[in-house]
Amino acid sequence: MLEDMNEKCAVVGIYGNKEASKLAYFSLHALQHRGQEAAGISSSNGVKLQTIKKRGLVMRVFDEKKLETLRGSSAIGHTRYSTAGDDSILDAQPVFARYDLGEMAIVHNGNLTNAEEIRNRLIDKGAIFQTFMDTENLIHLIAKSEKRKLLDRIIDAVGKIEGAFSLVFLSRTKMFAMRDRHGFRPLSLGKLPGGGYIVASETCAFDLVGAEFIRDVKPGELLIFDEDKEPESIQVFEPTPKHCIFEYVYFSRPDSKVFGQSVYQTRKDMGRELAHIKPVEADMVIPVPDGGVPAAIGYAQESGIPYEMGIMRNHYIGRTFIEPTQEMRDLKVKMKLSPMTDIIKGKRVIVVDDSIVRGTTSKRIVRMLKEAGASEVHMRVSSPPTTDPCFYGVDTPNKDKLIAANMSQDDICKFIEADSLAYLDEASLLRSVKTDTDNYCTACFTGKYIV
Ligand code: AMP
Repeated sequence: MLEDMNEKCAVVGIYGNKEASKLAYFSLHALQHRGQEAAGISSSNGVKLQTIKKRGLVMRVFDEKKLETLRGSSAIGHTRYSTAGDDSILDAQPVFARYDLGEMAIVHNGNLTNAEEIRNRLIDKGAIFQTFMDTENLIHLIAKSEKRKLLDRIIDAVGKIEGAFSLVFLSRTKMFAMRDRHGFRPLSLGKLPGGGYIVASETCAFDLVGAEFIRDVKPGELLIFDEDKEPESIQVFEPTPKHCIFEYVYFSRPDSKVFGQSVYQTRKDMGRELAHIKPVEADMVIPVPDGGVPAAIGYAQESGIPYEMGIMRNHYIGRTFIEPTQEMRDLKVKMKLSPMTDIIKGKRVIVVDDSIVRGTTSKRIVRMLKEAGASEVHMRVSSPPTTDPCFYGVDTPNKDKLIAANMSQDDICKFIEADSLAYLDEASLLRSVKTDTDNYCTACFTGKYIV
């Protein structure tokens, strides 16, 4: 089902630098948290596009030899995470196509809300699709457009799609970067130290490759990179910003600046707000690593309760294949997160996480802390109850699986076996986001969808 294809991904584009594919590769490393399922890079040497993409982490998909084959001074890259759809390599990006104007490759972060409609219309007209990806629609729309220049075809195609998209297109000689009119997903522009430009989902990629942040690509803006010129800007759509607030809550890396603001600082402020509105007496504040760390620091600073590292995370656990019995499942959780028993034993603990989705993580963590001897466990969540699914590119399950859509807070507290449970409210969340609060999409917490 196309509706299930909630993709949280990263995109990068490098233009005008002879190390393009290597810089794309390093950038993808910095963006790995946005998707671990597959990675890919397309590069152009001005004559021909080359693509390498495969399932797995960036580190496993590429090696020096492979990167050597991705020649040229422009490259685009992608990391993919998808919960549903086909596991096949065809669903990895960049999506490459040969068409009447030559060759192109596209990378996409976000979700199109009218993808199925477009697809059915195209299929009726004889189009053949190879994947379940929204992005393939764009290839068809561009290839079928009656305009003569690629630029006009891109404008034509993006006028037909709706939803969330941060896109980077690569042709043999040009690169294009585009954000939907709401700017749901982030996309920033930077200047590379060795010449040329970079666009990336998050600025943590800039820091890794030494790029200087110029500005965010504006909602509804198309940037054209052509030869040695400064990128040209076309405002294709009237901007009506609705940035995804979940980028601040969970998704982006704390060292990134997204939507004009530090993710770390924003998350810490969420923790401060939480301490302010939902105080509780306790001996220590501990985070659920890694997502809960900045908010727990903020909570501790605001409340004056000491911050402790009460849970260790093992960073080397990837996917484990042991699933069948409950016993084995518990072991699997412990492989990833282990309690610091000496610190927790006999103590009243406030445990801070960024969000509760299905409730399974919180339940396991509370149980683990109690088994480690905590006398009380108070769960604090630095975002409001997740009550509604996301149609704009964050991987959230259907409403029937969202615990807050189906249980009262008291019942959730009982379910996770905590001594108390409290969430941040929407007003306090928006207070943590210092910029214009009307500019955010909070649909996952409110059910108020824009598109
Ligand atoms: P759950 O066990 O379903 O309640 O998941 C909650 C945990 O998942 C929290 O620790 C969050 O940090 C994390 N989380 C929240 N949103 C997402 C997401 N879209 N993808 C993966 N993990 C998430």
